[in-house]
Amino acid sequence: MLKGLYVHVPFCFRKCYYCDFVSGISPKSDYVQEYFEALNNELKIYSYLYDFSTIKTLYFGGGTPSLFPKEIAKISEFISRFSSIEEITVEANPYYNFSPYDFEFATRISFGVQTFSEKYLKILGRDHSSKDSVRSIQKATDFFSVNADLIFGMPKQSPAEYLEDIKKLLSLGVDHISCYLLEIHEGTLLWKMMSSGLSLDLPENIEDFFDVQEYIEEAGFVRYEVSNFAKPSSECKHNLLYWNREDFLGVGVSAWSKIENVRFCNTKNIREYINNLREGKLPIEVFDKIEGFRVVEEIIFLGLRKIQDGISLGELYKEGLDVSGFLDTLKSMYSDFLIFDENRIRINKQHIPVIDEITARLIVVAERFYKFKDGLNKIELSRNY
Ligand code: SF4
Repeated sequence: MLKGLYVHVPFCFRKCYYCDFVSGISPKSDYVQEYFEALNNELKIYSYLYDFSTIKTLYFGGGTPSLFPKEIAKISEFISRFSSIEEITVEANPYYNFSPYDFEFATRISFGVQTFSEKYLKILGRDHSSKDSVRSIQKATDFFSVNADLIFGMPKQSPAEYLEDIKKLLSLGVDHISCYLLEIHEGTLLWKMMSSGLSLDLPENIEDFFDVQEYIEEAGFVRYEVSNFAKPSSECKHNLLYWNREDFLGVGVSAWSKIENVRFCNTKNIREYINNLREGKLPIEVFDKIEGFRVVEEIIFLGLRKIQDGISLGELYKEGLDVSGFLDTLKSMYSDFLIFDENRIRINKQHIPVIDEITARLIVVAERFYKFKDGLNKIELSRNY
C-alpha cells in the first residue's frame, strides 16, 4: 500500500562541491519543460497502475524544487485529487527570494542552510549567504513547519564553530533540524581535490561534534533518528516512511521506489528519462528484490537509526529470526551499546558516532540465528513477540 510519493527535481543554479545527487542541471536549460512533461507522464502511468488514495505524504526533493513553484503546485494538485495529503515538503535553497505565498500547497519547507559561516559556505561551494538563510527562514516560520539542514565535520571546522551554527539556527524558530556529517563522495569536487593529493584537513574527532548536538535536545527537540531532531509532533512523516520500510513511489530522474519487497530506481540520465516517458515507457533501470536475510538486514539497519523506536523484535521474528537466541547473544556481548526494551532494541545514544559499526555487528549475530540459513528450517521458535 503506497504511503508516500517522492518527486525529484534535478535543477540547481550551480553544483555544490560536496553534492553527489543527480542535480546541478541548469534551471535555464532546455530540459526544464520536457522534464516536467515527463514527470507528469510518469505520474499518470503510475496512477493507472497503483492506488494513490493511500498516499499521505508528498516530498519534493532535488535539486532545488523551490525554483519551480507553479510546476510542483500542479503535481501536488494532481495527487490531491486521489487522496488527502497530510504532509507536503518542498526543499528550498535559501538564496532565492523565498515567498510563502508561492508555496501555499505545502505544509513543510526544508532549507539547505548547511552553515551560517561565510567561510564554510564557500568551502562547500554554496551560492547563498548566511543572511539569505536568516531572511528565508524568518519568512517561512509563520506559515510552515520548517526544517534546516546543517553540515558538520567540514575542513578545519571546530566543534565550537558547529555550536555557533546550532545556536543561530535555534534562535530562528525552526521546528526540525537535520544534521549531516560531511562525506566526500566520489566524483564531487572535494573528492577530486582529495584524490589529486590536496589535504582537506577534515576534523579527526568527530565524536566531539556529536557531543555538541546534545544542545539541540536541551532546547526541546527530540532526536528521533540518528541525523534528525524535531520539536514534539514535528517529525517528518515522509522520511519516517523510509525508516519504517513502508511503500513509497519515487518519480523523476534517479528516484528510488519501494513497493512490497522490491526496490527499484529510475535512470540517472535525464535525456534517457525524458525519451523513455515520451515513448510511454517507465524509465526504470534497476530492480532489486529484497528477500530472505536481506529483509532482516534492512530491519536492523533502518530500525537502529530510529533512536526512539529502535528495532522491532516482532518484525525480526516474522522474517524468521530466532529472536530469543539473538537477544541473549546481544545482551551478553553488546549490552553497553544497546538498550533492551520490551520487544525492541535501541541504540544507546552515546554510541551514535559508531552506529555503522554496531549495525554491522548486529547483522553478523543475526545471521547466526536466521531460521532459513542454509535452507534449513532448524530453529523452533517458541516465544511470541
Ligand atoms: S543545491 Fe543541493 S542539490 Fe543542488 S547542488 Fe547544491 S547540495 Fe546538490
